[in-house]
Amino acid sequence: MADIVIDDLVKTYPGGKVRATDAISLTVADGEFLVLVGPSGCGKTTLLRMVAGLETPDSGAIRIGGRDVTDVPVRRRNISMVFQSYAIFPHMKVRQNIGFGLSMRNVPKAEIDQRVRRAAEVLELGDYLDRYPAQLSGGQRQRVAVARAIVVDADVLLMDEPLSNLDALLRLQFRAELKKIVRQLGTTTVYVTHDQAEAMSLGDRIAVMRSGRIAQLGSPIEVYDQPSDQFVGGFLGAPPMNFIPAQVRAANGPGGPTLRVGDQSLSGPMQLDAYRDQDVLVGVRAENIQVSTSPVDGWVAAQVEVVEPTGAAVLLTVQLDEHRLKVQAPPGFQVEPDSKVWLTCPPQSLRFYDPTTGLALVTAP
Ligand code: ATP
Repeated sequence: MADIVIDDLVKTYPGGKVRATDAISLTVADGEFLVLVGPSGCGKTTLLRMVAGLETPDSGAIRIGGRDVTDVPVRRRNISMVFQSYAIFPHMKVRQNIGFGLSMRNVPKAEIDQRVRRAAEVLELGDYLDRYPAQLSGGQRQRVAVARAIVVDADVLLMDEPLSNLDALLRLQFRAELKKIVRQLGTTTVYVTHDQAEAMSLGDRIAVMRSGRIAQLGSPIEVYDQPSDQFVGGFLGAPPMNFIPAQVRAANGPGGPTLRVGDQSLSGPMQLDAYRDQDVLVGVRAENIQVSTSPVDGWVAAQVEVVEPTGAAVLLTVQLDEHRLKVQAPPGFQVEPDSKVWLTCPPQSLRFYDPTTGLALVTAP
């Protein structure tokens, strides 16, 4: 096992106009599961491939377990990888596929047999060892690729969108299995995905990337609950965080200042007083908005546009002033499109951003 220290990594592809990674520094602790997540082209795969040794950085350094591996070739880094195209060999049976890395490392045959059987057991492939990949389902093939990666006892496990070839249900099932397996192994893992739900579910920490940089690094809850900027709040979560322009005004009575949204008012947290008379962007998650079909004093009125029952909740799209918001109402919530509703949010669930830069405003006491 080993930690990974990524220090100021810069990579520009030949002919590339922008940096694929723009001076990224990051430490993955020994045994940690770190997820790199972000939109297409943000540099996740490039970063992972540099850790693997499949791409050479222009500058910066990578250390694994204290050893500088920046110029060490891939086969001498003691890492194993799982890719989106799981790249298992069609002419080899599952047994040989799983043991492939071990045979390449000249591990004695009896030991290969034993380790393959153990990995197959963990991934519930014991009954399929003598089948060819063509005789397996997509999920089973994916498990073979994972078994092949975990069997070699590498210092570091690198995975690039390993679940993206699976259908939605299988993906959900396998995600939980993968989490369990990696936790049991305790191997330091870096996992790339563009799927924010996968990132939230798997990572001990998530690095949200944008344009070759890390926009925010933290535990899933931290990143979800306290997005460092408008981009992160809008990227994580389904639906994404709502953002509403508002002005901070002095309180009419005791309590925190007032937030003016159009010609309506909402109470804000005390700490927002530092931004009195300024424009802010209010960030609020759909599940933190309370909704009523009858007027409530101090709540703001909005117009329902769309009603979507999802089973676990009722998702409303509402128009507040000229802004469109997503509101998560409890299951069974009864409302018709085009009707009026009244909304409020607990002041502590509101997040505040600079409307110009999109960066979080410091509102801590
Ligand atoms: P995706 O989720 O679409 O795979 P990503 O976040 O993994 O995206 P990268 O594949 O790392 O992003 O690409 C980062 C940037 O580098 C992009 O602008 C991409 O176009 C560019 N890039 C990636 N590979 C190459 C290459 N071989 N040659 C030139 N440019 C490349």
